[in-house]
Amino acid sequence: MHTHSTYSDGVLTPAELVLRAASRGVSLLALTDHDDTGGLVDAAQAAAGLDIQLVPGVEISAGWNGQTVHVVGLDIDAHAPDLVNGLASIRSSRGERAVQIAAQLDAVGVTGSLPGATRHAGNSAAIGRSHFARFLVERKHVRNTSDAFRRYLGAGRVGYVPPSWPELAKAIDWIHCAGGLAVLAHPDRYRLAPRVMQSLFEAFAQGGGDAIEISSDGRFKGSAQIRLARQFGFALSAGSDFHAPGKNVADLGDVTEIPAGVPAVWQRLRAAR
Ligand code: AMP
Ligand code: MN
Ligand code: MN
Ligand code: MN
Repeated sequence: MHTHSTYSDGVLTPAELVLRAASRGVSLLALTDHDDTGGLVDAAQAAAGLDIQLVPGVEISAGWNGQTVHVVGLDIDAHAPDLVNGLASIRSSRGERAVQIAAQLDAVGVTGSLPGATRHAGNSAAIGRSHFARFLVERKHVRNTSDAFRRYLGAGRVGYVPPSWPELAKAIDWIHCAGGLAVLAHPDRYRLAPRVMQSLFEAFAQGGGDAIEISSDGRFKGSAQIRLARQFGFALSAGSDFHAPGKNVADLGDVTEIPAGVPAVWQRLRAAR
């Protein structure tokens, strides 16, 4: 229920992604590129001849309490005007941010990062920090992409530019206007104190959010967040957040099981209703 293609910061094309998923036994797959739905047509075409159901999705970058949170939209109508316009505005702010990131990297002697990152973005309009990270690795400024975030792109580092994402409630609204389900992505990755996590869940519930994602990195499992999901009446979602094949990362189909007694978000998809 959570994957990326070359339409954002994944390395497989939508068709390659669908084929890899099918070959790994995935029967229900959502493509959820960051702030872009451009890959859904190719993905649907690739899925048509296979024993795999494609769920049209997106992962929206949003702001809450001064920090970035991600909201996955599932079962969306990618042509819904509010969603289309909202995503276009995010991509345009991504373009502006990329120019600023490049200027800040230039200032510390890391030159050529804008064309370099753009090349890694390929057909992606949603240019982001992952593309800069790959450029930094390629030019041997860092050993790997996590190093790139640690040294250059993470909050407070020289290449960091505070983003201007839409507010959480707005992202949820766009998804609902498109007939979709809003899923709070990987809450365990926001590194929130329990009380702050509780208020994020409250805000998500207030905004009409539908489900909470269990990340495959596992810390979420059996934790207080499942209790909170129950408390707020959220369904649970699971996904690999697949970006690229590699060591020590979840591959397609590597997902945490949903504990018994809590509804899974796929039971609420249109096809299942
Ligand atoms: P952006 O939306 O442009 O700010 O970039 C965020 C993306 O960068 C995430 O979706 C991840 O794919 C990637 N990312 C974030 N933090 C890290 C990290 N520490 N190491 C590797 N990739 C990261
Ligand atoms: Mn990403
Ligand atoms: Mn995310
Ligand atoms: Mn993701």
